[in-house]
Amino acid sequence: SSSEKPEGVTTNTTIVSDGLDSKIEAKVDSLLAIMTLEEKIGQMNQYNGFWDLTGPQPKEGVAAKKYEHLRKGWVGSMLNVRGVEDVRKVQKIAVEESRLGIPLIIGFDVIHGYKTMSPIPLAESASWDMEAIRKSAEVAALEASAAGINWTFAPMLDISRDARWGRVMEGGGEDPFLGSKIGVARIQGFQGEDLSANHTIAACAKHFAGYGFSESGRDYNTVDVGTSTLNNMIFPPFVAANKVGVKTFMNSFNVLNGIPATGNKMLQRDILKGDWGFNGFIVSDWGSITEMIAHGYAKDGKSAAEMAANAGSDMDMESYLYVEHLADLVKEGKVKEHLIEDSARRILRVKYELGLFDDPYKYCDANREKTILGSKENHETVLDVAKKSIVLLKNENKLLPLKKEGQKIALIGALAEDKNSPLGSWRIAADDNTAVSVLEGMRQYKGNTLVYAKGADVSLGNTAFVMETKINTTDKSEFGKAIKVAAQSDVVVMVLGEVGFQSGEGRSRTELDLPGVQQDLLEEIYKVNKNIVLVLNNGRPLAITWADEHIPAIVEAWHLGSQSGNAIAQVLYGEYNPSGKLPMSFPRNVGQVPIYYNHKNTGRPIEPAPDIVFWSHYSDQENSPLYAFGHGLSYTSFEYSNFKIDAEDSSVNTPKIKVSIDVTNSGDYDGKEVVQLYIKDLFASVTRPVKELKGFEMTSLKPGETKTINFELNAETLGFYDNDNNWIVEKGGFEVYVGGSSDKTIKSTFELK
Ligand code: BGC
Repeated sequence: SSSEKPEGVTTNTTIVSDGLDSKIEAKVDSLLAIMTLEEKIGQMNQYNGFWDLTGPQPKEGVAAKKYEHLRKGWVGSMLNVRGVEDVRKVQKIAVEESRLGIPLIIGFDVIHGYKTMSPIPLAESASWDMEAIRKSAEVAALEASAAGINWTFAPMLDISRDARWGRVMEGGGEDPFLGSKIGVARIQGFQGEDLSANHTIAACAKHFAGYGFSESGRDYNTVDVGTSTLNNMIFPPFVAANKVGVKTFMNSFNVLNGIPATGNKMLQRDILKGDWGFNGFIVSDWGSITEMIAHGYAKDGKSAAEMAANAGSDMDMESYLYVEHLADLVKEGKVKEHLIEDSARRILRVKYELGLFDDPYKYCDANREKTILGSKENHETVLDVAKKSIVLLKNENKLLPLKKEGQKIALIGALAEDKNSPLGSWRIAADDNTAVSVLEGMRQYKGNTLVYAKGADVSLGNTAFVMETKINTTDKSEFGKAIKVAAQSDVVVMVLGEVGFQSGEGRSRTELDLPGVQQDLLEEIYKVNKNIVLVLNNGRPLAITWADEHIPAIVEAWHLGSQSGNAIAQVLYGEYNPSGKLPMSFPRNVGQVPIYYNHKNTGRPIEPAPDIVFWSHYSDQENSPLYAFGHGLSYTSFEYSNFKIDAEDSSVNTPKIKVSIDVTNSGDYDGKEVVQLYIKDLFASVTRPVKELKGFEMTSLKPGETKTINFELNAETLGFYDNDNNWIVEKGGFEVYVGGSSDKTIKSTFELK
């Protein structure tokens, strides 16, 4: 009867690792057997190396202390040492001057490229092209490994629904299914098939956990989420990362439900290392052990070290607390020595797997460094993924693609000539001003006349460590020139949005508009010429409602990396037919945030309904997003037909539901479509989202061509995590949706018995 809970089948989520290499384990054992307590703790200590390594070694201060600890074997890892020469220097001290000569693991934030920059991760995620994403990470690993690095602090797997949070640029968007696939592609790109090869590096699944749910999108803020959200929205990409053997995890700055992630035993020791069987190591986030004092969780540094170590944080990034207090804590019986040993074991294991014990300098090949960094092939790879990352949001009157000849084109906006912003946030090793600008990209099409006018400035705060990212210029002195140029042109291409460092860590915003006077500029230009193609450069969804209502063509081009201008020009001129789809919903205004497609139903309708006085809505804005998750147009058009569901096995134990759909290219261009499959579990013991992505496939079609796309739903996709973290598949009705966007789908149903 309907009063019963749906019957379900649960399976344990425990994922046991792919098994350990017994030879490596034996080596780790024999090494541990001769290590002192202090040396084991040393492995758990990571130092930042951002200082001048070329000069004489300092006699006092922090750097002097770091050198001293290196010699004692009290440092297991360094970050932010880069370049073969510098890495060799610190490695040499560890290997030749410390008692046991244990090599360092060298970490670095290789977030979207090293020297040759790929699009920011959110942009790449819009490609929905796992092979392109994998290759991009492969190039990043290739370059980083050639510069002495063997461990990247990526991928960031934090699902986020809040465009105010600056770090959405670094992730895979709002959906756990897509986010898991993207995370896996990146990990496989970084780690390759053979971690011991000199062109692959260890990856790091971060930030564990909940960081993407920082309250009100303010970076580092408190996180309070319920069990169901934690299990079903936040954990899945981390589960997937562990399954494919990611070597490390990073914990997180935030407090999760009252307990800092860094001191959170349930997260790290019980779930990750226990239930999931993770056997790599967990690094703290930068200073996050110390931050537990400010959180009001640890009373001082010593107790912070105790809590973090006991909770399962294996490596201390820049809190200096493990090296300072752990030995005493062990002697006092507050941290058990076997836990120290476990942490050291995990770290040594990864070093063996990287092959560092065979050759500590294997990543220090000056010749590789010279030939690989910035190579032509690497630029080709990042150009390829850059094109695929672009999302065509709107294209009325077939304004795009641009005609290649006989046109007078006005190019407007400071971002059009900006060679820095496209490199995006997180690009420590890339040289400034090395991206191809839109101006440079478009100038290659000589059949048209191109006139550039800046119009408005956006340059404030465009550096990594200047945190003033509010573009507060009110200067409109350049408007006049731009208006004149626009009035005399056939088409106006306006490049507007955010500077590169307006998103990223510490770059939260409360407005999601076009910063500065760019909106005014857009409206002024519109008055003299309505043929506007708006090209957006940004690191997060923007609320561009006015533009959507007025501007005929809108292209989301994010921060696309080194090849940005080439990718954008090729898309504008139709040499690449855009195929990207949004990995995050775009809000109509900030008040709608957090807005996401996979939300739950309320008990009330979301539209006026008979006999309902109060429905779930805003009185001043629609519920729907401006652009939905999965949205993205093409220069051609696609039609969906012949939607079939074949319940080959509709038992809840071994469900096998086949779904097929025909997709036809009904337009005039060759094109690619990402066909998306969503489900809705209609009645469940834990309420389910109105739609959940459970499959997608990219298909290429010539005009007039039709292809059948097949999906299969099974126990892995039809279930969810209950509140005890069991995977459960339940009897009852399901809806299935397919289409080219989460908000443009056709529906069918089936039932599990
Ligand atoms: C960030 C991490 C990063 C680390 C090292 C922290 O501030 O949160 O994601 O890996 O710094 O640079």
